[in-house]
Amino acid sequence: MGVRDDAEAIAPELAGLRRAIHREPEIGLDLPGTQRKVLAALDGLPLEISLGTALSSVTAVLRGEGAAAPGGGDAKGGDGGPVVLLRGDMDALPVTERTGLDYASRTEGVMHACGHDLHTAMLAGAARLLAARRRELPGTVVFMFQPGEEGHAGARHMISEGVLDAAGQRPVAAYALHVASADWPAGVCSTRPGPMLAAAEVLAVTVHGHGGHGSEPHHAADPIPAACEMVTALQTLVTRKFDVFDPVVITFGSNDAGTTDNVIPDDATFLATVRSFSPEARHRLRESALALVGGIATAHGLTVSAEFRDGYPVTVNDEAETRFASGVAAGLLGEERCLAQPNPMTGAEDFSFVLEQVPGAFLMLGACPPGADPATAPNNHAGDAVFDDSVLATGAALYAELALQRMARS
Ligand SMILES: [Zn+2]
Ligand SMILES: [Zn+2]
Repeated sequence: MGVRDDAEAIAPELAGLRRAIHREPEIGLDLPGTQRKVLAALDGLPLEISLGTALSSVTAVLRGEGAAAPGGGDAKGGDGGPVVLLRGDMDALPVTERTGLDYASRTEGVMHACGHDLHTAMLAGAARLLAARRRELPGTVVFMFQPGEEGHAGARHMISEGVLDAAGQRPVAAYALHVASADWPAGVCSTRPGPMLAAAEVLAVTVHGHGGHGSEPHHAADPIPAACEMVTALQTLVTRKFDVFDPVVITFGSNDAGTTDNVIPDDATFLATVRSFSPEARHRLRESALALVGGIATAHGLTVSAEFRDGYPVTVNDEAETRFASGVAAGLLGEERCLAQPNPMTGAEDFSFVLEQVPGAFLMLGACPPGADPATAPNNHAGDAVFDDSVLATGAALYAELALQRMARS
């Protein structure tokens, strides 16, 4: 039987695993219950498993026996054929579930609203499918079960704990799938070469003045008008200093100053989310935004503390790997179900840290339930977002085929 048929045969088990994870969602870098479920799902497979120390990650290495090692020796150390890395993230979100599903979250205020429960089950499924083909596998597969994608940079932690060297040599390619509860029908894949997702980071600014009586501003140094000027000047900066075809987005989501109407405060603070789609724009934005707020503060005789807090870099899909992955997806799903995505998405992903070091591709996989309209269905991160189980076998087969075909090609 082919990979696709084998995946369909284990679909009920994958749904069971996915629903068990969905019922007991966990947030951040520490996901002990999810880790336990993954280990149980991998139990008995011929994998080298290591667990994270700073986070509850699971790294599983499957060494194929289909690449002849010189002298028939051990496959470790670069003789076992190419290494391919597959990543599935495992964390949930601080969202209250409103789906009404029978397997809905039992933890108040926590929900798998981004579908990472599906990624975890799909990746465990791919490990099963590939382990069953171990004798023919012409290389090694690293399964990266990752906590803390949602703002905790779990991928960066796993890299610093050695996931990219888990097989003894660097992967030649890395792939990640991400399900979507809207935008695409179930089982439709979408990706693009180059920038796939935005870089996201926080710009934190505090304008320092000198407080005083609101009736006598000339005796104080008022930080609020300068802070307001910075907010509008940064919007102007976006439109005057950046190519409209390499856009940036700055949104001020928090502004905090003062206590009452007639007191000039000492400080005014604001926070913005900043998105960009190329490393060049990201770098230029950092420099020009800091220069701008510094200049405005100086012009008003004030001082300012401003910094970009590290977020996620641009997720850049490698051209050749994306072409390859699209071909694999089209072969598995049909040409008409594999779409070339016209634009990057404005979300961000910490798989970007992996793609900074290993060429690869990030692919979206539609998981909109049948009967729902992808154009209007609740989106990822919504409390009523629903991801359909029918894509579990598809995703597991796609992960497995990406690894199989990529190892065979090298
Ligand atoms: Zn998310
Ligand atoms: Zn996500």
